[in-house]
Amino acid sequence: DPGVTERDIALAERHAAHNYHPLPVVADRAEGCWITDVEGDRYLDLLAAYSALNFGHRHPQIIAAAQAQLEKVTLVSRAFYSAEFGRFCAELAEFVGKDMVLPMNTGAEAVESGLKVARKWGYEVKGVPDGRANIITASGNFHGRTTSIISFSDDPVATAGFGPFTPGFRTVPFGDSAAVAAATDEHTVAVLLEPVQGEAGIVVPPPDYLREVRALCTQRGVLLIADEIQSGLARTGRTFACDHFGVVPDVYLLGKALGGGVVPLSAVVANSDVLGVLRPGQHGSTFGGNPLACAVGRTVIAMLRTGEYQDRAARLGDHLKVRLDRLLGHGVTEVRTLGLWAGVDIDRRVATGRQVAEALMHRKVLVKDTHLTTIRLAPPIVIEESEIDWALDQLAEVLTEL
Ligand code: PLP
Repeated sequence: DPGVTERDIALAERHAAHNYHPLPVVADRAEGCWITDVEGDRYLDLLAAYSALNFGHRHPQIIAAAQAQLEKVTLVSRAFYSAEFGRFCAELAEFVGKDMVLPMNTGAEAVESGLKVARKWGYEVKGVPDGRANIITASGNFHGRTTSIISFSDDPVATAGFGPFTPGFRTVPFGDSAAVAAATDEHTVAVLLEPVQGEAGIVVPPPDYLREVRALCTQRGVLLIADEIQSGLARTGRTFACDHFGVVPDVYLLGKALGGGVVPLSAVVANSDVLGVLRPGQHGSTFGGNPLACAVGRTVIAMLRTGEYQDRAARLGDHLKVRLDRLLGHGVTEVRTLGLWAGVDIDRRVATGRQVAEALMHRKVLVKDTHLTTIRLAPPIVIEESEIDWALDQLAEVLTEL
């Protein structure tokens, strides 16, 4: 069907809000690491829906769990219990090493929920005077797109035209624990961080940073909230990015891959001394913790329990880094990686990130640019080493052509 791509894109451009700038690829089907478009062309997916597809497209175990649950019950709301709900919460809490779970849907909802819980904990447990709580965040952060979350973003594209903003946040330089200490006062209830900043371009902090912030939080009675929505669940070669630094936060925020690339499923995971502050009616979500999502989530937890994906991400990540380092000085100025997750800075004299992404698309490799000159690689962890090699050959050639 000639012209089908153009027609599908034209429909989207005419009738969908223009809040994204997608590459002109129209997916029809996908499996593993590969997307087939409406014209039958196959593309290697090196974005994995920003890490929501850590297990690849349509992993058979995840699809089977979803299909089985579709035959039973998909939604009851939290007005009733479902068989999957309690089992999912218990299994996730046990897997993470905490005792309570607050299931939501999107990443931004998990972040919002974590902020609400931290404030309430501050008033009820820490004894902060009502309405005076502050939360410390890091420069360059990305935690989502809701009004309160963009209130502590320092990206003008995210904030311009969307004020007034939610008060009660203090943003300090990422990677600087002394700045966190200086910003902390008796009304500080939480420090919210991405242990490795994803949207900022896979920015790995100095080795002692998280441990120092952890110690400070413990000393000052402040909750450490780790947003592991993009970094967590095997992406970095460990279950959590925090594991690389020997740090256990008070609150984990999870999302993306938790839903297996099938359903939106996010969660706040903490101990009952924190999550226990929520009482009936104070927070909720119609779809949060629905049985379909819980069935998928339980399968994801079972897959992560094997450790297989963490090990594979670590091993393939080492290989990816070796291949990327060879491009330094050949159109690439810097490479940052942790596990199977890489930020690649393109020499601005050679091309923008977008130009590289478009050139790679013509060679059937899909990546996404971030912050003008960076491309981010987060392939499905089920990718083969030979597929990484092929994709990196394409990148090397693109960089010599541009
Ligand atoms: N937190 C982090 C670290 C993220 O990377 C993202 C999404 O990219 C979010 C939160 C927001 O997740 P969602 O888009 O599901 O709302």
